Amino acid sequence: MKVGIIGTGYVGLPTGVGLAELGNEVVCIDREQSKIDKLNKGELTIYEDGLEELFRKNVKEGRLRFTTSMKEGVENADLVLIAVGTPPHPVTKEADMKYIHAAATELAEFLTGYTVVATKSTVPVGTGDDVEGLIRKKNPSADFDVVSLPEFLREGFAIHDFFNPDRIIVGANTKKAADVIRELYKPFAEKTHLLFVKRRSSETIKYASNAFLAMKIHYINEMADFCEKAGADVYEVAKGMGLDSRIGPKFLNPGPGYGGSCFPKDTNAMAFMGRKNGVNLSLIEAAIKGNDTRKEQMAERILAAVSGFENPKVAVLGLAFKGGTDDCRESPAMQIVQILMRKAPSLYIRAYDPKAMENAKILVGDALHYAQDMYEAAEGADVLVILTEWEQFKELDLKRVKLLMKGNKIVDLRNLLVPEEAAAAGFEYQSIGR
Ligand code: NAD
Repeated sequence: MKVGIIGTGYVGLPTGVGLAELGNEVVCIDREQSKIDKLNKGELTIYEDGLEELFRKNVKEGRLRFTTSMKEGVENADLVLIAVGTPPHPVTKEADMKYIHAAATELAEFLTGYTVVATKSTVPVGTGDDVEGLIRKKNPSADFDVVSLPEFLREGFAIHDFFNPDRIIVGANTKKAADVIRELYKPFAEKTHLLFVKRRSSETIKYASNAFLAMKIHYINEMADFCEKAGADVYEVAKGMGLDSRIGPKFLNPGPGYGGSCFPKDTNAMAFMGRKNGVNLSLIEAAIKGNDTRKEQMAERILAAVSGFENPKVAVLGLAFKGGTDDCRESPAMQIVQILMRKAPSLYIRAYDPKAMENAKILVGDALHYAQDMYEAAEGADVLVILTEWEQFKELDLKRVKLLMKGNKIVDLRNLLVPEEAAAAGFEYQSIGR
């Protein structure tokens, strides 16, 4: 199948690479010239495990191309995927649809023959109707259908998730369009659920799923706070809860709050849609509020740990919003660091992240000091703070860290270390919910 993908970011690029690997002819389009130049030079623009190898292979074998030209990507395509951003509106927090609307308008004139236009971006209910209207207005004679095809990949696991989806949700209002999507995902037919629903249901499924996951994280974070006060251990509690198949063990890891480019924006957008439709989505509203407060509370824990030190120094391990990605968008780690910088401007913070330091620099520049590795970050620090769950932080040589640090406190907001091992290495160790 000939596929054009509009938007070559965290969703568009892995999707393009994956679809090319399945044998499709894929053209990835992005309006950012520098991104396309980089990709055309054979350099990746994001970090994702397993992406590079498949990217090189499919470019070499001629199934994957990159362009800024809408015409080149859309003309002759059987399927056009829209994977542009839907960031939160700065004031209302609803999904800002300007990129979707622009993409729909820009692609319209290049449609040739019957084409399915599928929205991969996370979009409010009714967007399918809007996209259809915009295309129709610009190109009244075009032969097309608009489908909702929400994306569920997890950053850090994008390639894995592309090839092993739990489910593929297809919101198609015509059989012809549904058949095109069924054909696209034929290689997965045996191993995954392909669920065909109304377009508006499909659009809702994406938000309802993300909001539910965000609430589950917030729930276990509140339980962790409770466990600390009540003398329980949140891990034992989560394990006991998770054994109930109605609850399940996933997303019961306490931490500094949910973040990333999806959960915060999608919970806010869902809450906005609730208000717009006169429906009180009180659980989602509470999770949003509680999750915002949580970052402040976590920063307070760090400030409490450094209080009493003269010219305190903090080593921060982790800046990405989670392990396995370079993405710092709405990263709890970055937000906590920024709260620290605001509340204690004289605090010396030296941070290390295996992949996200370039993106962190874009957000805070040189206000933060950056280390080459986790041990350099620890040098001379009074307190070491773990903010992102990178596997390599679990392997910290604690005796070496102890020798490098000035102080002996660890605040582990990801519960990566084993408390007994930290204590045995001479640390005063704080974690979450135990
Ligand atoms: P991103 O910002 O990484 O990428 C979007 C890209 O679209 C950018 O490179 C931008 O330059 C490009 N773009 C914008 N308008 C364009 C236009 N008119 N023509 C060509 N290119 C254009 O965003 P992302 O993280 O890939 O997210 C895209 C959508 O997918 C969002 O709606 C998001 O909510 C959803 N989503 C993201 C994830 C994730 O893990 N990041 C997961 C599921 C769903």
